Amino acid sequence: MAVTTTSQELKRGGAFLVAPTAPQDVFTPVDLTDDQRLIGQTTEEFVTKEVLLQIPDLEKHKQGVLPGLLKKAGEIGLLGGLVPESYGGAQLDKVATTVLAEKLAAYASMAVAHGGHAGIGTIPLVYFGTEDQKKKYLPKMATGEWLACYCLSEPQAGSDALASRTRAVLSPDGKSWILNGQKMWITNGGFADIFTIFAKVDGDKFSCFIIERGTPGFSIGAEENKMGIRGSSTVPLFFENAAIPKENLLHEVGRGHIVAFNTLNAGRFSLGAYCLGAAKKAIELSAKYAKERSAFGKPIADFGLIQAKLGEMAVRTYALESMIYRTAGTIEAAVAAGESGSDKTKAAMQTLEEYAIESSISKVAGSEILDYCADEGVQIFGGYGFHEDYPMARTYRDSRINRIFEGTNEINRMLIVQMLMKRATTGALPLIAAGKKLAEEILGGPSFEEPPTGDLAAEEQAVAQARKAFLLASGAAVQRFTDKLADHQEIVAALANIVIEIYAMESALLRAQKAAVAGANTAGEMANAARVYIYDAVDRIEKEARTALIATVEGDILATQLAVLRRFTKHAPLDAIGLRRKIAQSVLAQNRYPFEAH
Ligand SMILES: Cc1cc2nc3c(=O)[nH]c(=O)nc-3n(C[C@H](O)[C@H](O)[C@H](O)COP(=O)(O)OP(=O)(O)OC[C@H]3O[C@@H](n4cnc5c(N)ncnc54)[C@H](O)[C@@H]3O)c2cc1C
Repeated sequence: MAVTTTSQELKRGGAFLVAPTAPQDVFTPVDLTDDQRLIGQTTEEFVTKEVLLQIPDLEKHKQGVLPGLLKKAGEIGLLGGLVPESYGGAQLDKVATTVLAEKLAAYASMAVAHGGHAGIGTIPLVYFGTEDQKKKYLPKMATGEWLACYCLSEPQAGSDALASRTRAVLSPDGKSWILNGQKMWITNGGFADIFTIFAKVDGDKFSCFIIERGTPGFSIGAEENKMGIRGSSTVPLFFENAAIPKENLLHEVGRGHIVAFNTLNAGRFSLGAYCLGAAKKAIELSAKYAKERSAFGKPIADFGLIQAKLGEMAVRTYALESMIYRTAGTIEAAVAAGESGSDKTKAAMQTLEEYAIESSISKVAGSEILDYCADEGVQIFGGYGFHEDYPMARTYRDSRINRIFEGTNEINRMLIVQMLMKRATTGALPLIAAGKKLAEEILGGPSFEEPPTGDLAAEEQAVAQARKAFLLASGAAVQRFTDKLADHQEIVAALANIVIEIYAMESALLRAQKAAVAGANTAGEMANAARVYIYDAVDRIEKEARTALIATVEGDILATQLAVLRRFTKHAPLDAIGLRRKIAQSVLAQNRYPFEAH
């Protein structure tokens, strides 16, 4: 059913929903260059030698420890990845920043602090700063001399960020902005030097400003008492007639939302990479513990139910890793293709916008797969998983925030569908043509398309059929609810879940196919991981599509649509138990996630 797409369309954000991608066209971890691997090694060494030993002090908020570590990270070039070389940064490519984010995640609070500074704290200046602003701030931010944070949320305005009550007015002499209001939940706020603040000019024009620590009228509240990421700094900020120079406006009055949302969009992708690193760590801890802990006269690792958990943790993490590196590679290729133009930063920002759907998918899938691994990790540790002297309790607590910040997963699910619909109606993505083609196919009876061949033919077919299931359910929903679809949030979320599954399934499949073509020694195991993921994902898709259709259409139409859906989600039996056990054996043999860098 794949619609005919031009190579240009194939590269577009969301295109995975309308046409297949060739395995050789996806970036996978095996494609990492020596330089990218070196960034990973440097980061890993930094975390092992500098960060992990200080966890007890970090968790107690011992003064100066976290900013000290960030500054050390800056000294070895781990903070300036997004900063252009002309401003003293390392200007790393997207894949390299992804590896860096992943490796930092061995201690979640460090990863969050890094993201707060080098990600969402730095991005607004890189993409929207004037030449003077960039010259003043970026070199010191790249080295960690000045630490930064991103200040959007307020006590009454979190998801609904544009409901901000913080106000900015120009002073009577026209030389300063006067800020009044409050921010809430600001990561790194306890020690940051540079604060990117969002406030409404004259009460209605949402805008962005840079404010420096020590500004009179600007004060920083006490550290919040959090459930997790306790080593990170999270504080409220207060502005009482805080006056900042007029030139500290970032971008334009009334255009703050462009800064805010594009920054979050970039941050979301990195969040998925942090989650990937943390999920791998949870697998490693769980595998080692399962081999050490005995019950009923043997290591718990010998029990089928423990192997099922380790196997499934590895399978989901494999799917996540495949998605994350595929997306990083796609973004990097698009940035590189656009670099001949004059404004590189503008082109990079446009590219991030293009792949906003994939970024939201990374955030939602990453945070939920990590939650799954952390939860099963606690279970493998048994009572010791519930004890703070063992590492899994912290992993579990630290994991939970990822579904909440950088846009809650509810908001991101809605964004995924909203962005897709916008792309469909503007013609950026040929979804409408794909829907029409599917309708013709349904009316015309069974498809006579050539079925896929090869070792993973059934899985390839399953991905193709999953696309049809999405078109079926989304087409029915759009037809019934038209521009009011957003009001039917449960249906929107079901559609978003299908989209996420399709991206995960296809990414897992393409990586295994690419490995097979290359003759990689892990190709067979990756194929097994892809098989298990896809087998279960088809059932999840069937349920989501069925639920959405039942809430959308009725009577004979519903009966017909459900029959068509059954056809699209039919699959041959797979011994998922046996395959999960095999994958668990690899996890146990290596004491870790088994597909690292393959
Ligand atoms: C540890 C931590 C660090 C943070 N760091 C930062 C930071 O550095 N900078 C920053 O600006 N912010 C930061 N935040 C704030 C974070 O981004 C917000 O908490 C988040 O956006 C959610 O906002 P809220 O807490 O007001 O929840 P709400 O917006 O009140 O949401 C509550 C619930 O309602 C749901 N909901 C809201 N709107 C809708 C809707 N339209 N449809 C369906 N469901 C909806 C949400 O999904 C959620 O489940 C941080 C938060 C924490 C806890």
